[in-house]
Amino acid sequence: MAIPLEPARKTAEKKSSPSLGAPREEQAAPKVLIVEDERKVARAIKEGLEGNYYSVSLAHTGEDGFFLANSEDFDLVVLDVMLPGRSGIEVLSAIRKQGRKTPVLLLTARDSIEDRVLGLDAGADDYLVKPFAFPELLARIRALLRRGKAESVTTLRMQDLEMDLVGRSVKRGKRMIDLTAREFELLEYFLRHQGEVVSREMLARDIWKEQVRHSPLDNVIDVHMVRLRRKVDEGVSTKLLHTVRGVGFVLKTEN
Ligand code: CA
Repeated sequence: MAIPLEPARKTAEKKSSPSLGAPREEQAAPKVLIVEDERKVARAIKEGLEGNYYSVSLAHTGEDGFFLANSEDFDLVVLDVMLPGRSGIEVLSAIRKQGRKTPVLLLTARDSIEDRVLGLDAGADDYLVKPFAFPELLARIRALLRRGKAESVTTLRMQDLEMDLVGRSVKRGKRMIDLTAREFELLEYFLRHQGEVVSREMLARDIWKEQVRHSPLDNVIDVHMVRLRRKVDEGVSTKLLHTVRGVGFVLKTEN
């Protein structure tokens, strides 16, 4: 499976852009362990993170990953679920059984909702669906490092809109909202990017996993957005999902 990892931004750009949230140079680089058997993917993630001032170790099997996670103090573990031998979820359970609270970001397969639920139950702090774009991985890693070791991401919220990632349920106030798998994914994306304008290109890339935006896909996206908006906002005075003309959509509270 090809993982479209976008190249890390250029060094010059990074240094002049504090909003990237890369660790300051006087601080110790956060230590990240990547457990991923696909070596090309592992190497691409490693290079991307190193380009953003992270210190990265690699393991290519579950056994090695477990050993390293237990023998060194990492700030974060990026753990692929599909590993030969011991799966990522088994490794995660074993790490948690040792009492280690290191934040773990699981990499799961696109069609395996069960893995995501099992993973969160086993103590994962967040997950990302393959294939993913590197900036999305970086954003998740930063969010987890900011949050620290205590809370995991099992509920996403905005105002009275609440998404339970383990139970796979959504409600607005007390009203349960019934979503298809795709709508759930879409809304999850908006909840993770709340207040940000989300373009159709971003949705094509991160939800539909298409590299090139084309007009039939734009139509599909729009149809899904209309349905999703109806389910989320219909009959409620505070609208949350808004169209940004010519650009895309945004999940925010004000009109
Ligand atoms: Ca794998």
